[in-house]
Amino acid sequence: MKERLDQIKAEAIRQIEASDALEKLNEIRVNYLGKKGELTAVLKSMKDVAPEDRPKVGQFVNETREEIEKVLEECRVKMERALRESKMKAEVIDVTLPAGKNTMGHRHPNTIALEEVERIFVGMGYEVVEGPEIEKDYYNFEALNIPEGHPAKDEQDTFYITGDILLRSQTSPTQVHEMEKGHLPIRMLAPGRVFRSDEVDATHSPSFHQIEGLVIDKNITFADLKGTLAVFAKELFGESTEVKFRPHHFQFTEPSAEMDVSCYKCGGRGCRFCKGSGWIEILGCGMVHPHVLQMSGIDPEKYTGFAFGIGLERIALLKYEIDDMRLLYENDIRFLKQF
Ligand SMILES: [Zn+2]
Repeated sequence: MKERLDQIKAEAIRQIEASDALEKLNEIRVNYLGKKGELTAVLKSMKDVAPEDRPKVGQFVNETREEIEKVLEECRVKMERALRESKMKAEVIDVTLPAGKNTMGHRHPNTIALEEVERIFVGMGYEVVEGPEIEKDYYNFEALNIPEGHPAKDEQDTFYITGDILLRSQTSPTQVHEMEKGHLPIRMLAPGRVFRSDEVDATHSPSFHQIEGLVIDKNITFADLKGTLAVFAKELFGESTEVKFRPHHFQFTEPSAEMDVSCYKCGGRGCRFCKGSGWIEILGCGMVHPHVLQMSGIDPEKYTGFAFGIGLERIALLKYEIDDMRLLYENDIRFLKQF
């Protein structure tokens, strides 16, 4: 019996000394000292031992248990110390290393231009609203006086998701959503992303941004439109900026116009920037078509209004004298950090 216990002890100690992880030590503890362990098995076989020898064997078993426990504990302490030391070594900080630089991000030129436009109109009492980028055909075209089969729809050939749901080709549907709410008067600015199946070049992109403006109230006239947009142009490009309106055609406004601003580079004398004309085309605008008001539930006999649409990229390109729209989307940090 003593021989067997010595064997068990020697084997246990050999395994303990060979183990390299705390989990292994636990395993050994269970295998030798646990309820189904080897020492317990010896105790269970005590019934085969002569009664007078039992105290002696019991003592051997206890001694063996104590010795195995002692070696286990020593090994555990040693392992934990080694682990702690290697951890501290790995986490040591070399204070002589150069510090990592935190680079501060900043706003994209599009965002700077948008916030500037918003600041000007909010200052005139406008509310900034947003509309969905995925729109029903009705809101993108029909409610804006562009019925099925109208050639104006072809010009804005766009991305359809189903037969009557598409990525909006303009921010104007947001006007319709606001008008349908029926809270009059309206003074709103609706910036957002729009989509058209345009090829990418220096002035086109399949995805770009518009800023839509809409005012509806009693007694709004073309004079209000001109005055508002003249103030906007002066705020954006400088106090000496002049504006000029050229007759144009848009489906949802009547009369419609395009607005030019005097070239802020040459003051209107003509230069390379304004291609010698002294004027720069900046936005489209007009008085809201009575039919459009009617379709959205507003009585055109009582209310009138004006609308305008600005290309956000165009403002950013002009303001920062960037000559290629693609630069705004390429996200080249060397370009963007100039603004
Ligand atoms: Zn010029």
